[in-house]
Amino acid sequence: MDNGSTDGTAEVARRLGAIVVHCLEKGVAFARQAGLESARGEIVVQCDADSVVPRNWLSKIARHFETHAEDVGLSGDAKYRGEPLWHRPLSLINRWLNQISYWCLRHPMSILAGNFAARREALIAVGGYDLAFPQCGDEFDLLLRLAKTGRISYDPHLMVETSSRRFRRRFWQFLLADTFYHTALGLLFHRLTGKPIKGSRRDVRDEALVVRTWPWASRLRFATPVVLVLLVGALAYGFFMPSAEAFGKLYFATKTHEKVVALTFDDGPNEPYTSQVLDILQQYDIKATFFVVGKNVAYYPETAKRIVAEGHVLGNHSWDHSALQPIVDVREVDLAKSQATIEKIAGVRPHLFRPPFGHKTPWQMEQLEKHGMVVVTWNVSANDPKQPPSSVIAERIIKHTKPGAIILLHDGNETIHGADRSNTIAVLPQIIDTLNKEGYTFVTVPELLKVDPYLR
Ligand code: ZN
Repeated sequence: MDNGSTDGTAEVARRLGAIVVHCLEKGVAFARQAGLESARGEIVVQCDADSVVPRNWLSKIARHFETHAEDVGLSGDAKYRGEPLWHRPLSLINRWLNQISYWCLRHPMSILAGNFAARREALIAVGGYDLAFPQCGDEFDLLLRLAKTGRISYDPHLMVETSSRRFRRRFWQFLLADTFYHTALGLLFHRLTGKPIKGSRRDVRDEALVVRTWPWASRLRFATPVVLVLLVGALAYGFFMPSAEAFGKLYFATKTHEKVVALTFDDGPNEPYTSQVLDILQQYDIKATFFVVGKNVAYYPETAKRIVAEGHVLGNHSWDHSALQPIVDVREVDLAKSQATIEKIAGVRPHLFRPPFGHKTPWQMEQLEKHGMVVVTWNVSANDPKQPPSSVIAERIIKHTKPGAIILLHDGNETIHGADRSNTIAVLPQIIDTLNKEGYTFVTVPELLKVDPYLR
């Protein structure tokens, strides 16, 4: 089949005694269909012009169809000349999947268009090749239609040696463009809409020309996934890291040589534990900062009032501690509601805000800045929401505390009423004693950052 060949292949074939059929419409499906229409034999065999077949290839195929009357198709496999290293595991996986699929479904997962044979009458019965896939995907479509009429065998020993020029490109390009876009998505798109997906698979015959004309193009295409990975990494860093200021100004500690630190308690009020924390702080005459959840303040109003009455600072820790708050609260409903609730119950309007889980988005940070909020995270954490043993909590805090630290502990756990905090409570006096002995004094976050504790 001569489908716009420019390298003299057709002439060579003709000289060797082959019947060469011309197909002017460029595209592999058109060529295959023209081949099918001019074929006269019982079995139609497909092969690529750049493949080398073994000597007994045709006789092996003929014998297979003679001995397997129920078979309508037979797919072999290929060895790729100069196969890139990254493609070798894929070849192997493909071989295994074909074998498994053949055992389970009576046909391989994919047929190799360059080493495939089918009964001519079966091909004609299913309507031939689908011209909606001029460049690719036609073999999958054909496989699915043919499989309805009979068995399609897979013989991993029926091997041809073929060119790996299609794979001699960047891995990501192959994976995203060929495998994902043109094959998987293309097939799905065709199944759903009956139309081929836009864009065609690159014509490998033009490859050398393209690379020579645009030496930077392939490098830029290689750079795209790298840039994407870096971008996603940077966004994830800004979102997850409590100390990341990628999306706006925040405080996770302060720079000082003075041995001062701030104790902060999150997710309260939560009884009886918040009251127990307050009792301990009272005993040591220490002022701390409580980042309260609006919903919990509404549930434990007396505790919220006591926090303020005893000289501690109330910070805002969202309305209901939703993990989605930083992402979805674009209309500032959460912030307004939690601020209003805290002010109504405790009589103070917080100046400090700590995002739930320390997660941040650019729009949330902009919103907080607009409302004059100071965003506070932490740099020392016991990671105590899951209540590790007291000794672990103590070690995590004491080991990492340095001058100017903001220490995170939990007197609550999101919006769970009565969430067990006993390990934190039990070890709090020891933490205070040890840090006192090391010469630390405890201040509130506004004192540490030298900002007003409340708005207005
Ligand atoms: Zn929290």
